[in-house]
Amino acid sequence: MTATILSASTCADSNTGKEPVTAEFNYIVDQFADIQILRYQVPGFESLSLQQKRLLYHLSEAGLMGRDILFDQNGRYNLAIRRTLEAIYTNYSGDKAERQFQELEIYLKRVWFSNGIHHHYGEDKFIPGFSQEFFENEVRKLDETLLPLSQGGTIDELLTLITPVIFDPAVMPKRSVQSGDQDLILASANNYYGEGVTQKEVEAFYNKMKKPNDKTPVSYGLNSQLVKENGVLKERVWKTGSLYSEAIEAIVQELQKAVPFAENDLQRQVIEKLIAYYETGDLKTFDDYSVLWVQDTASEVDFVNGFIETYGDPLGLKASWESTVNFINTEATKRTRIISDNAQWFEDHSPVDERFKKKEVKGVTAKVITVTSVGGDCYPATPIGINLPNADRIRRDHGSKSVTIENITEAYDKASQGSGFNEEFVWSDTERELIRQYGFITDNLHTDLHECLGHGSGQSLPGTDPDALKAYSSTLEETRADLFGLYYMADDKMIELNLVPSAEAYKAEYYKFMMNGLMTQLVRIEYGKDIEEAHMRNRQLIARWVYEKGRPQNVVELRKQDGKTYVVINDYEKLRELFGTLLREVQRIKSKGDFTAGQQLVEEYAVKVDPVLHREILDRYARLDLSPYRGFVNPVMKEIINNQGEVADIVLDYSEGYMNQMLRYSRKYSFLPTFN
Ligand code: ZN
Repeated sequence: MTATILSASTCADSNTGKEPVTAEFNYIVDQFADIQILRYQVPGFESLSLQQKRLLYHLSEAGLMGRDILFDQNGRYNLAIRRTLEAIYTNYSGDKAERQFQELEIYLKRVWFSNGIHHHYGEDKFIPGFSQEFFENEVRKLDETLLPLSQGGTIDELLTLITPVIFDPAVMPKRSVQSGDQDLILASANNYYGEGVTQKEVEAFYNKMKKPNDKTPVSYGLNSQLVKENGVLKERVWKTGSLYSEAIEAIVQELQKAVPFAENDLQRQVIEKLIAYYETGDLKTFDDYSVLWVQDTASEVDFVNGFIETYGDPLGLKASWESTVNFINTEATKRTRIISDNAQWFEDHSPVDERFKKKEVKGVTAKVITVTSVGGDCYPATPIGINLPNADRIRRDHGSKSVTIENITEAYDKASQGSGFNEEFVWSDTERELIRQYGFITDNLHTDLHECLGHGSGQSLPGTDPDALKAYSSTLEETRADLFGLYYMADDKMIELNLVPSAEAYKAEYYKFMMNGLMTQLVRIEYGKDIEEAHMRNRQLIARWVYEKGRPQNVVELRKQDGKTYVVINDYEKLRELFGTLLREVQRIKSKGDFTAGQQLVEEYAVKVDPVLHREILDRYARLDLSPYRGFVNPVMKEIINNQGEVADIVLDYSEGYMNQMLRYSRKYSFLPTFN
């Protein structure tokens, strides 16, 4: 049986917009270090109304204005380093084919990609391939006015400040330290906390703010840096007139320009409330904004702009700045609408303990979207799905909005074809054929289920501290969401609802998930290192756990052939049962805030890597000459002005390369002082 909604949304040539995704479109833009840069298409953009396009334009501009904020959040010297490198790069008069300069170019590309000097995913500082001598010489050749000197500062002072940060491996080695016995705040190089602030001090500071019976607590600490001044802790709030004011004022100005183009009154209120939040820094206003945003399901254009995700803070309090701007993919959204319409059924039938299920699943709205611009922490590394808001109490009382970003998944899929990856790592033609036939459909479906149902499912027992799982909470939240998706992927309900074209389809996702979690995601980890990032931890946690628990019945095997290891799944039905069992346990941990059990699960299954297998996977991968990380450039949005001086149209230009985009962004969207 063929589900028409799926073929409509997943076949490249059947998008309903006027710009069909064509094979000639050049998805691959650049490649350096461990990174490949792609571009995404925006099918359907031309068919939007001028009002919608102008709304998208101003929201996209607003989404670029905050770029510097993220650089500074990721490390207090990032802006100084980026600006110094850009000054060298754009004023260089030597031989550009010279190795030192080439290495500087790669390093600068990496700094742009990571929004700082630490790896965007692995968190470790990357060390440049050019020498300190070359760097210092090139800096000294520059006119002082080209360099980011502090007020009255000298070149020597600048070099003293940033040279060890760039070159000494012992200085600021890690952006965010997420686990271990050390003080996580002192050990982390990011800039959410001022120098010398300890984990104990942070915990005490914010615990004091929590009121015992507060049913609607705000997200304490979300939008500020916590610093110590004369021994006293104090928040520097990110708002106009305070920290990051110059960038936030620019964001607010663009949001104000967007207001007249709002599609309806509610959307206008959403934008105005966000402006009010940026101007006051008041977290209650942020909650009011989030509630309005969740309620706005009628608008076709939508956006996220603000301090949203807390993955970068080891304590999960402080949010990084990000932006996505998008419009709905109406055809593909029929698929997610079916899922959200049945949300209560999925909640009721999950293998989770009755006490931890939501009696009434509220307002889970899900849609498939097409992004037109990504910024901040969504750029260039871009998520494929988003579920917001994050605050549990808002999700509980007002529901959440969940999206699958299909023009991004499509670009990934298109750019991967013919890479040789599946030929190297997949066990046999049977699995390869399953993946070829159903891989794209089930990938998107898993993202839908993860975002729309997984993150929205379950409830905590009354009185459970929402921060009880501390540094493990992100990993366990992602684990729960992934398991919910995996469990239902194989359910008969998927067939009944016409979401999959065959009862076999789920096997493509199960195979890919297990291969990725047990083996191939290790290509992203440097040899000898542990897994740090929450999504990677979650995937290994699940894959390792079901592998171990299924061993007596040989459910999943790591089989050797010609010296190579492969994942072989012997019993797909048992595998599904194991996913269900683990889902039940992870929901219990979350609902009861069982820190000890959560810690044990993560530390035992999610963090450590088998060094022999790791070596093998890295070697096999290296021979394929691929990049383990990918990100995107944005299309350039241009206003077309007519003879009367009015905006007659907005068009997209796909021709800008990675370096040009980054240099342009640094010229046009850089508002913050070098030191904040
Ligand atoms: Zn997630």
